[in-house]
Amino acid sequence: MKWDDLRRSKNVDDRRGQRMGRPSRSGGSGLGGLLGMLLLSRRGGGKWLLIIIILMMLFGGGSFLGGGLGGQEGASQEAQTSQQVETSQTKASSEEKDFLSAVLGSTEDFWSGLFEEQGQSYDPATLVLYTDQVQTGGCGFGSAQAGPFYCPGDQSVYIDLSFYRELKDRYQAPGDFAMAYVLAHEVGHHIQNELGIMDQYQRAVQSAGEKESKQLSVRLELQADYLAGVWAHYAENQGLLEAGDIQEALQAANAVGDDTLQEAAYGQVVPDSFTHGSAQQRQAWFERGYKYGDLDHGDTFNTYLDFEK
Ligand SMILES: [Zn+2]
Repeated sequence: MKWDDLRRSKNVDDRRGQRMGRPSRSGGSGLGGLLGMLLLSRRGGGKWLLIIIILMMLFGGGSFLGGGLGGQEGASQEAQTSQQVETSQTKASSEEKDFLSAVLGSTEDFWSGLFEEQGQSYDPATLVLYTDQVQTGGCGFGSAQAGPFYCPGDQSVYIDLSFYRELKDRYQAPGDFAMAYVLAHEVGHHIQNELGIMDQYQRAVQSAGEKESKQLSVRLELQADYLAGVWAHYAENQGLLEAGDIQEALQAANAVGDDTLQEAAYGQVVPDSFTHGSAQQRQAWFERGYKYGDLDHGDTFNTYLDFEK
């Protein structure tokens, strides 16, 4: 994808490296910043952390930072090492953040334009980047293990950048546009929220049985795939796509299909338990959105779907 010249969205909340229940390490200075830095270096950080906690208990935080004891020197050395580790690890992920900010900005430009055409205004979603675990506003705790997700409560998309590596290594879906598809899918959920579809879905699920609930979930997910395709259509018109980009998105849609995941995890496929749709369905709905590029052909709730696929 050609994204260098795209504007970067401002709606990115970078909470990487934050521990849950801790205030943000603003500025990274002072004891909090130092501790935050140490916590970032998972290797060997524990030993120093313990020493610092003991020193703090003995002397109090302020006097520890201000006064000698040799402890300060030791700690700053550790901080340096941790910074080096951080540099090599985060070089890739700062580019990933830059890329996602560009893709998010592109989705904002597209969706706000389309909403405007319909006489509506578009309230953009926030992209929250986090590490391992995150506290959402209305969806409880989020975990990186569950993959990227959207929380309607705080209108935010949550992504742990380690998912990039998972897509490439575990799901064999490499390429920048694979990740663009993932973000566009989550933004698709935000569009559903903005359009009131999410509310309707949640109400329908409340009175539905287990099997029907799962089918409604599949319909919601396939529509998000459709909406990701609609944005891809726009990206193509903007001249942003490179050869192989759509293939990368389809490969990712295939990889996150319920049947592909179940086959890999359990060695068998149980269509009744699908919550996102099969690989074939996910690809088909993304392609459909990519083909039409509008809101008119994406009504997955009133389309016959073969749930045995
Ligand atoms: Zn989804």
